[in-house]
Amino acid sequence: MPGKAEFSALIVEEDQAACDLLQRIVEARGYAAVVCTTAASAMEAFAAGYPHLILMDWLLPDMDGLELSRMFRTSGRGKYLTILMISGKDSPEDIATAIAAGVNYFMAKPVERKVLDIWLSASSKHVQDCLQREADDLALAKTKEDLEENNLQLEAALGRANAMAMEAEQAYIEINQIFKTVAGGIILVDKHCSILRCNDAFLKMAGVKREKLHDRKCYEIFHSCLCNTEECPLQRIRKGEKRIESEIEKEGPGGKIVYYSMISTPFKGPSGDLLGVVEHITDITERVKAEKALAESEHRYKELSLVDELTRLFNKRYFNTQLQLEVERANRHGQPLSLLLLDIDNFKHHNDTYGHADGDRVLARLGQVIAESLRVNDVPCRYGGEEFTIILPVTSGEQATVVAERIRARFAGEVFQPTPQETVRKTISIGVTQYQAGESGQSLVERADQNMYEAKQSGKNRYVLK
Ligand code: GH3
Ligand code: MG
Ligand code: MG
Repeated sequence: MPGKAEFSALIVEEDQAACDLLQRIVEARGYAAVVCTTAASAMEAFAAGYPHLILMDWLLPDMDGLELSRMFRTSGRGKYLTILMISGKDSPEDIATAIAAGVNYFMAKPVERKVLDIWLSASSKHVQDCLQREADDLALAKTKEDLEENNLQLEAALGRANAMAMEAEQAYIEINQIFKTVAGGIILVDKHCSILRCNDAFLKMAGVKREKLHDRKCYEIFHSCLCNTEECPLQRIRKGEKRIESEIEKEGPGGKIVYYSMISTPFKGPSGDLLGVVEHITDITERVKAEKALAESEHRYKELSLVDELTRLFNKRYFNTQLQLEVERANRHGQPLSLLLLDIDNFKHHNDTYGHADGDRVLARLGQVIAESLRVNDVPCRYGGEEFTIILPVTSGEQATVVAERIRARFAGEVFQPTPQETVRKTISIGVTQYQAGESGQSLVERADQNMYEAKQSGKNRYVLK
């Protein structure tokens, strides 16, 4: 049963006395009643607050009651209304017409209290059914709305997921393409040195098959001198470096020495966190070889222009320049300067007897003996053929004879074996002279040569100082 004022009833009746009666009866049944004597005021009251139950007359002063009933029925909550018509028009046709206009229950006038009670009981049941139906419809509508909303969200999420999947697939294709076409090897290594991914070019460099990569560390697959040291690119990237270029030399798959250039950069996740390192490795063997050959030939060329190849002493060109400098220095500072001129005794005979090649060995050995017998500032040169000069800065003639004697004695002690059966010793004659202030380098050389000649004349294997 309806509780107090829980339900409302609208009474539309022109006759005031009938109104009062109906009002009393419905209020006694717990309805809050609104009473209207015209259709116009009934419509206003209806719009102000939808009633649950409507008791209405057919014949109204301002409108046909059926028309009013139709309006109620077609309103927003129309289908949840319970309409009881009370009318003097009560032929079966009238009742059928009224029901067609949306009326639920029909009662003939004059109102009989008992009959009205019966109809009101039936109406109460109908009101409750309507309320239940309305609640069910609302719940259903809400569920439908929620479902639609969910569907929309699902569709949007699906759309985003699809877009992301397409993007991911595109990125995957691009990365694969880069991995395949990039010059050189690429590896992705995680923070614990495990290889996450690499391209075929890297596998070729490392000389391993892809199936052998599983669970292997980078230093096992591509070991270099940087591995397990402070210079390991991964360790340096972990300490915050952004780009590291390293050159490594290692034995290639075929056992040959190969040079690689390696560029290491951080490998980061979508949120910027460091996942490991990306290494791009290029084979630079050809370049390094070319650079080495160039450096070697430069060095060689430089040496050739100053150094005599056979004896490893300076050549005549260098001697001339150096003598000039020392002469100027001696004149400037007034310090002594001496010169030795050495010539191998009977060298022609040695060449003629044992051959030119063996003669060369003697020359080379004399070069060694000379080099080992001097101080750093002394300048030993091959003057030409089997003749040698030695510039001795800050050295008097007297002091120079000590050097001359040392070289003579050491060389005389050298034993040569031109043939398996024979041993030979060679000697040298040395002209020693001291620079005289103001004279030219040329004149110094000439005097040394004269002294050397005198040493030859007086029996060889000696020095002469003048
Ligand atoms: P002396 O004792 O008077 O110096 O007699 P010598 O035979 O040593 O002197 P000579 O000037 O007659 O001969 C010098 C020889 O040195 C002639 C030449 O074959 C030899 N000679 C010059 N340059 C070289 C060289 O680069 N290699 C060799 N193996 N021999 C050389
Ligand atoms: Mg000579
Ligand atoms: Mg000679």
